[in-house]
Amino acid sequence: MSEPVLTISDLHVDYGTGDDAVHALRAIDLTLHRGEVLGLAGESGSGKSTLAYAVTRLLSPPGVITGGDVHYHRRDGEKVDILSLSAPELRAFRWAELSIVFQGAMNSLNPVHTVRSQLTDVLKAHRPEMKRAERTDRAKELLALVGISADRLGAYPHQLSGGMRQRVMIAMALALEPEIVIMDEPTTALDVVMQRQILRQLVKLREQLGFSVVFITHDISLLIEFSDRIAIMYGGRIVEEAGAADIYRDARHPYSDGLLHSFPALHGPRRELAGIPGSPPHLAAMPAGCAFHPRCPRAFDPCASRVPMLTRPAGETAEPRTVACWLHHAAPTGVR
Ligand code: SF4
Repeated sequence: MSEPVLTISDLHVDYGTGDDAVHALRAIDLTLHRGEVLGLAGESGSGKSTLAYAVTRLLSPPGVITGGDVHYHRRDGEKVDILSLSAPELRAFRWAELSIVFQGAMNSLNPVHTVRSQLTDVLKAHRPEMKRAERTDRAKELLALVGISADRLGAYPHQLSGGMRQRVMIAMALALEPEIVIMDEPTTALDVVMQRQILRQLVKLREQLGFSVVFITHDISLLIEFSDRIAIMYGGRIVEEAGAADIYRDARHPYSDGLLHSFPALHGPRRELAGIPGSPPHLAAMPAGCAFHPRCPRAFDPCASRVPMLTRPAGETAEPRTVACWLHHAAPTGVR
């Protein structure tokens, strides 16, 4: 595996403070390696977007980071503590080294500005030395990167299709050639054909430009196709992390397995669609023990009272996989 570009250690996020605080993220440990696509999957409310907002310091009140570290690793070896950056440092850091593509391009693009002005604005803010003509050339180049003809520079967002607007967002995120791009449900509003076209293009760009991607979606089938590794989230925790192919072939956590059996396979043998019974827990009223136990078909003795840690499954040494489930840990210990 290549060197890390982003490390998240023991990250905790609450909404609110004191006794009424809702624990939205608990003890998140995650590493993004240089050049990889790391998928984050889970149902709504599992904490995926909160994690993206916490890492980029875009969490707005009452969201508060209550513990942990997030480090960005520059190519020269310098380690940047993202949670300690001052406001001006953060402004310089975002877009230049880490950018984010939000869900729903129509809400993220300014409807009264042309594509040209929105693309060149990023350049104006971060590369003030660039001349106007250079900025326009770069904007054309960026559109070409995402497969849009330069004559659409003068278009307003409403004059573009949904897929083109999302491509403009990706072009904008790549404007300063960041090392990390976080994509929060970037293609959810698009049809499946457009989703795949955009994601294929993204993977090609990743190969061309060498950036790393954190790709967030509730659609695990997309992650299996486009990610190198997948982390599955449930109730504000990571419950399983492994290579995309390993998750597909042999998911160890019953929740990961439930997600996999919630969509029909287009290839390979037919399999029954089982789904997951019940609904995700409310973060303000989390079940004791393993948060998945009220829905888990395999729950047993320790599950309702003890929280399983995210560790390598018992007896497994070779595979880079971690799972938080008592089925895979010999002796229940520690609660966090
Ligand atoms: Fe199911 Fe128990 Fe594993 Fe939780 S710890 S996923 S309840 S078997």
